[in-house]
Amino acid sequence: MKKIAVLTSGGDSPGMNAAVRAVVRKAIYHDVEVYGIFQGYYGLVHNNIRKLELGDVGDKIQRGGTFLQSARCPEFKEPEVRQKGIENLKALGIEGLVVIGGDGSYRGAQRLNEEGIKTIGIPGTIDNDINGTDFTIGFDTALNTIIESIDKIRDTASSHERTFIIEVMGRDAGDLALWSGLAGGAETVLIPEVKKDIKEIADKIQQGIERGKKHSIIVVAEGVMSGHECGEELKKYINVDTRISVLGHMQRGGSPTGLDRVLASRLGGFAVELLMKDETGLAVGIQKNELTKTTFDDIFVGEHQIDRKMYELSDELSI
Ligand code: ADP
Repeated sequence: MKKIAVLTSGGDSPGMNAAVRAVVRKAIYHDVEVYGIFQGYYGLVHNNIRKLELGDVGDKIQRGGTFLQSARCPEFKEPEVRQKGIENLKALGIEGLVVIGGDGSYRGAQRLNEEGIKTIGIPGTIDNDINGTDFTIGFDTALNTIIESIDKIRDTASSHERTFIIEVMGRDAGDLALWSGLAGGAETVLIPEVKKDIKEIADKIQQGIERGKKHSIIVVAEGVMSGHECGEELKKYINVDTRISVLGHMQRGGSPTGLDRVLASRLGGFAVELLMKDETGLAVGIQKNELTKTTFDDIFVGEHQIDRKMYELSDELSI
């Protein structure tokens, strides 16, 4: 394989730049030309593609977001639209493609693979919700951003004896809420994977107050309900002074942590190794600190699971 391309797609995540850098440098090191596709699948279809050199990825490893930019391209589900993208790749003699993104992006990658483009996926999303990998690129950075916010909120919560509800990202996946709740010492975490009765939470807060607790912190994943809804629900059962913090898009930004940079570099390098061996239709990942590959077909079998033991532990530690 002499020419490959790389794109970032879907929601951006910190560490995507480090992954692109690894793909570009690993490929050039092995005399493979690399093209950057700007704006994800939209750029692929609209031929927003240019050759990348070593210098193009200089001074990028520490930057959040993605310099290749990302875009939503719903029309990419249409075979005729994808065909335009495939023709653009063929016109440049590009034989392999690395797609960095979440599960939506993987669906597109799976289709391209079926349609004859050698494709490897790299998991880039803060949600940590992709099968076949223990961690996705960006999760650790977002986790640390949330923990920093929880710590700050805790300072003010204890000064005013209030219950704080912190709404974090995660439509279908509770990893960010669970991990940040555990690390931030939250009293309760609400995640989409586990149903929890609001009355039980209210009772727990009430018992805490009776034992002399000065404040409570509840972390709620947006997929369960909004922070405001959570506050309204609680007030049906107890009379507490609640404050809501919706962390929003700040969770997606910032300079990637060391763990995310290392993960991105390892996965980027591995993706190029696989393409150089003509392997295709695979998503790379990390499991028990080993680099792994999983077929796109297997990635879509079953839902991503949270660590139930960790969930139980967070409950046990938050009494
Ligand atoms: P993420 O990759 O973060 O999950 P999205 O779900 O928005 O983000 O997906 C990113 C892009 O992947 C979409 O804008 C679309 O171009 C492409 N995509 C998503 N689902 C499919 C599909 N079923 N077939 C082809 N392309 C898809």
